[in-house]
Amino acid sequence: KPLIQFRDVSVTYGDGADATLALSPTNLSIEQGDFIALVGPSGCGKSTLLKLASELLAPSSGALEFCGVESVRVGMAFQSANLLPWLSIRKNVMMPLKIVPPYKAEYRKKRYNEYKDRVDQLLDQVGLLSFAEKQPWQLSGGMMQRANLCRALVHEPDLLLLDEPFGALDQFTREELWGTLQDLWLSKKPTVMLVTHDLREAAYLATRICVMSPRPGRILEDRSVSFPRPRS
Ligand code: ADP
Ligand code: ADP
Repeated sequence: KPLIQFRDVSVTYGDGADATLALSPTNLSIEQGDFIALVGPSGCGKSTLLKLASELLAPSSGALEFCGVESVRVGMAFQSANLLPWLSIRKNVMMPLKIVPPYKAEYRKKRYNEYKDRVDQLLDQVGLLSFAEKQPWQLSGGMMQRANLCRALVHEPDLLLLDEPFGALDQFTREELWGTLQDLWLSKKPTVMLVTHDLREAAYLATRICVMSPRPGRILEDRSVSFPRPRS
């Protein structure tokens, strides 16, 4: 059963003379374990699709069906790492465990050390364990994005939404992080929707590539990609 089914979902922003059809009626079936890359020019509706999947945005017409799990737990990461500057890296990564249900109720009961172990295991996996006590400003951009990915994954989401997470990084660091993200995905197998402008990134990481076009936004092509591919 698919994790999310978009049935004739369209999005119009604004109303009256200001109305913009941002996404024309779209059917999309997202299977559990898919790694979908959304590619296409600015304004084609990539972020709109992510907002729909996160339920931050309701469709203007049509419906989304969430199947297979009781409630879909979502993790998100954006181009800017948005780490809280006054907290250590470990506490930043731990944040979703405090604020996302069902953890909130459990939080008081569970020992800090249980969370710490889970966070530290993730930090270790991305090579940041020795930076756990550092503040965000003490890390490089690439390291901050590693922490950002850990924070998005720490509550073991069913669905990971990534909006150009490596867009602000230099090419070398970006390609390094492809390996990091691939390892994280392979070890946990969340369903991923990744917005990217980088076709090589899409080809390296995704099991499915959706090519979109603007005015109005729509999915032009939806291709499965063989996986795993050799790293180079
Ligand atoms: P992308 O992520 O591919 O750049 P978006 O999903 O952000 O595209 O936007 C799709 C279209 O909807 C664009 O034409 C954009 O200008 C428009 N749009 C996005 N958000 C809003 C908004 N809050 N209000 C009005 N128009 C919007
Ligand atoms: P990334 O590829 O994660 O952006 P960099 O290329 O900036 O990292 O840094 C390469 C290595 O240098 C890092 O893996 C880390 O071991 C070390 N490093 C970077 N910034 C710092 C820092 N502020 N303090 C200590 N070591 C650092």
